[in-house]
Amino acid sequence: MAGASEGSVWLMGYCYQCQSQVPPRSGHCSACRVCILRRDHHCRLLGRCVGFHNYRPFLCLLLHTSGVLFHVSVLLGPALAALLRAHSALHTAALLLLPWLMLLTGRVSLAQFALAFVMDTCVAGALLCGAGLLFHGMLLLRGQTTWEWARGQHSYDLGLCHNLQAALGPRWVLVWLWPFLASPLPGDGITFQTKAGMLPDSRRSQN
Ligand SMILES: [Zn+2]
Ligand SMILES: [Zn+2]
Repeated sequence: MAGASEGSVWLMGYCYQCQSQVPPRSGHCSACRVCILRRDHHCRLLGRCVGFHNYRPFLCLLLHTSGVLFHVSVLLGPALAALLRAHSALHTAALLLLPWLMLLTGRVSLAQFALAFVMDTCVAGALLCGAGLLFHGMLLLRGQTTWEWARGQHSYDLGLCHNLQAALGPRWVLVWLWPFLASPLPGDGITFQTKAGMLPDSRRSQN
C-alpha cells in the first residue's frame, strides 16, 4: 500500500508480529511487544522504546545527564587532588579502579571509598551519556534513526535545518533548555517527507 501528499511519500510495511500494516520507519519491539512509530531503539536503561514521540526528551536527557555528571566530576576534582597529595599515585589509581577491593581489604576509609565510588559513577556516566549524545547528535543532523544508520539509509535526510525541526519542532534551539516546551513536531509519525520528495520535478524525473 502506498500514498503521497504534498511531497510526502509513504510505503506501508507489514508487521508479522502485530499482523497489520505499519507506517514507514516504524519497527516492532519484541520487548515492548508493539510497533513503535519512527522507532530508534529500545533503551534498556529506561526500559522503553525511543521513537517518534519521545526522541526529543531522550536527547535532552542525554545532554542534561552528561552535563550534570561531568560537572559533579569536576567539583570532585579538588578532593581527588587532596587524596593524591596524601597517598601515592598507585594507591589512588587502585582506589579509583578497585574501590570495593580496597575497602574490603581495609586499605582505605569509608569516606575515601565513597569519594572514589561517586567519582567512578560520575565519570563513567558522563562518558556513557556523552558518547550517546554525540552519536544521536550525528543521527539528528543526518535525519536518521539508528536502524537507518546501521543500514546506510539516507532517504529522510532533508538538510540540517529540516532535520532539526523534524525531530525537535520549530523551537529546536530552546527545547534543549526545557524539553517540555511547546514545540509541536511537524509530522504525525505516520507519513514522512523524503529527500526524493523535496527534489524539484525536473531533477526527480532524471533520477
Ligand atoms: Zn509490530
Ligand atoms: Zn521497546
